[in-house]
Amino acid sequence: MPEPICICKHLQVNNTDKVKVGILGATGMVGQRYIRLLENHPWFQITYVAASPRSSGMKYSEAVEGRWHMQTRIPTDVGQLVVEDANLVDKALGKCDFVFSALEIDKQATRDLENKYAQSDIPVVSNSSAHRWTDDVPVLIPEINFSHLEMIPIQKMKHSWKKGFVVVKPNCSIQSYLLPIHALEKEGFLVSRILVTTLQALSGAGYPGPSSFDMVDNVLPYIGGEEEKSEKEPLKILGKIETGKFVNYGSMKISVHCNRVPVLDGHTACVSIEFKEKKPTKEQVIHTWRKFTSLPQELKLPFAPVQPIIYRDEEDRPQPRIDRDNDKGMAVTVGRLRDCNVLDLRFVGLSHNTIRGAAGGGILNAELLKAKGFL
Ligand code: NAP
Repeated sequence: MPEPICICKHLQVNNTDKVKVGILGATGMVGQRYIRLLENHPWFQITYVAASPRSSGMKYSEAVEGRWHMQTRIPTDVGQLVVEDANLVDKALGKCDFVFSALEIDKQATRDLENKYAQSDIPVVSNSSAHRWTDDVPVLIPEINFSHLEMIPIQKMKHSWKKGFVVVKPNCSIQSYLLPIHALEKEGFLVSRILVTTLQALSGAGYPGPSSFDMVDNVLPYIGGEEEKSEKEPLKILGKIETGKFVNYGSMKISVHCNRVPVLDGHTACVSIEFKEKKPTKEQVIHTWRKFTSLPQELKLPFAPVQPIIYRDEEDRPQPRIDRDNDKGMAVTVGRLRDCNVLDLRFVGLSHNTIRGAAGGGILNAELLKAKGFL
């Protein structure tokens, strides 16, 4: 299976003019994906890598020896970088303009560390869940809540941070249904109740994740903390900012079952939805999804999928192995729209968890921040 490649149609700038990027957690599953996706990025260049004290002091290529999971080789320039200890913020000073954070450490320690980077004038674009419920931290899906960037100046002022700030991206499982639901809401088809069952890939658990003995011939019906995140985060993302504070979206109820399945990449979600007064026909839903675009497409951000929601008519799609890499792994693929006997309609959504749901989503956030002058 070929890896999705970043075909950026933008003018390539000289390496010296690119924004210098650091990756915290560079040796992990998401960190490796960042390194893979940022190779030849038109705006960003990796100049700094950091991980745990176990990896620090080694060349990157040595630190990931025997655990490089991407299908392409380690980019030569990154392979030569010496891995630093991500806990030592001073090491990053002068070496990068901002960092992607993909650390797997205690949540309070993550919050403290990400704040320290921000305080040291290094903006943080995070994949961790640690800051998702912090009052002044936006949880961004650029096609949905780009307006939440307004919180950044408020956050900076509150902490007296000059250049640094923290933005995060949401849980990897929610994009497969939140983007289609947002597209419907934007057309005035307001959704009141959502029932979701997710089938989540192994890579979502990081490396090595659950053992093969637990996963082959099996489904794990529990992923710690995942259901709570999937039910709460959409309400912040769909919410608004009023008098400098996030106000959660109040009129939607979500119930989620999360399962780990023996798929390498790609989270699937089986979704039933109920509408408020205005109920669309199936044709209107498919039309709404197919024509949906937003600010990242208008701005032609390098990682923005041309068509964020791809609807497949075949009765047996989407499937992770076939559909997860659509449009660089950044498009959400949807199918099987049909009547629901309990709520109104049901469908199946799929998105690539370590691309749209993690590193690709983080890169799109950073591109939006750059396009809007925050980086
Ligand atoms: P992972 O494969 O376990 O990688 C963890 C990274 O954190 C490694 O680089 C590791 O460095 C570093 N680390 C561990 N302990 C550390 C410490 N004490 N100090 C500094 N660095 C430390 O995890 P992952 O799947 O990439 O996930 C990374 C983050 O992204 C997590 O917060 C996760 O919740 C989030 N996320 C993951 C996904 C996904 O699909 N996997 C999706 C969305 C969000 P060493 O290699 O040196 O140990």
